[in-house]
Parts: sequence; structure tokens; C-alpha cells
Amino acid sequence: MSRPCPCGAKATFDKHCEPVIDGKILADTAERLMRARFTAYSIGDVDFLIATTAAPQRENLDADELAEYCDSIRCISLKILATEAGGPKDETGMVRFHASMQVDGKRRLHAETSQFHREDGAWVYEAEDEEVGEDGEA
Ligand SMILES: [Zn+2]
Repeated sequence: MSRPCPCGAKATFDKHCEPVIDGKILADTAERLMRARFTAYSIGDVDFLIATTAAPQRENLDADELAEYCDSIRCISLKILATEAGGPKDETGMVRFHASMQVDGKRRLHAETSQFHREDGAWVYEAEDEEVGEDGEA
């Protein structure tokens, strides 16, 4: 079964984000992890989202809340705008992206610059750097 990867990569889901989410391979770059996390949001893989969040932030995550959030949104597309470091030989990295999603039936563009670093060799999501272009928030 091959279907397009939710993250928009040219490779199909079973060759792209699925093996990363299933833990069969490690994301070699921060962008690869970013894409896998977007896909995990889209399919509601809460375990992966928690496992790939940096340790201090991980403690604040609530699996049920996260699952509810995943259920409440529909991820439409991901656009990577820029990356800084985050390569196979780097320890830290930055990924700037636009995630297009549907929240409560309304299309919303989520713009974020994310910081990533390695924990025991594996990329983890550290935090959001800044937030721009949040539409529709009262
Ligand atoms: Zn993918």
C-alpha cells in the first residue's frame, strides 16, 4: 500500500514518514523530523509526538490533550520555507515552515520557526522560536 506522504514529500508514506514514525529509522535531519511530526499530527500518532519532544517540554505534554488536538484539526499541507543547520552532522537545527490546516472547518495557516536539537543522537523538537501569521485568534 503506497499513498502520498501527508508531509508532501515526493516519496510515498511507507517510504518516507512511516518508517520514521514507526521507529524503523531515525530522522537524519531536523527537517525530516519536522516532516514526520507534521505527519504524526495528521494521523494522530501522539506517542511519536511525545517521544520526539525535548525532555523538559515533554513533561508538560498531556497525551489525551494532544490526541484531542490531533482529532480537532485536519492537516492539509506542509511547506518548508527555510532550514538552518539541522544536518546529519549538526547538533542543533532550525526549520521554518507553514502548516496549512483546517480548524473548526476554517482554513488556517500556522507559521512557525522551530528549534531542534539532538538527544542521544536523535533529533527532538525543542520549542517554537516565534509565531507569526496566526489568523483568526480572538
Ligand atoms: Zn513524509
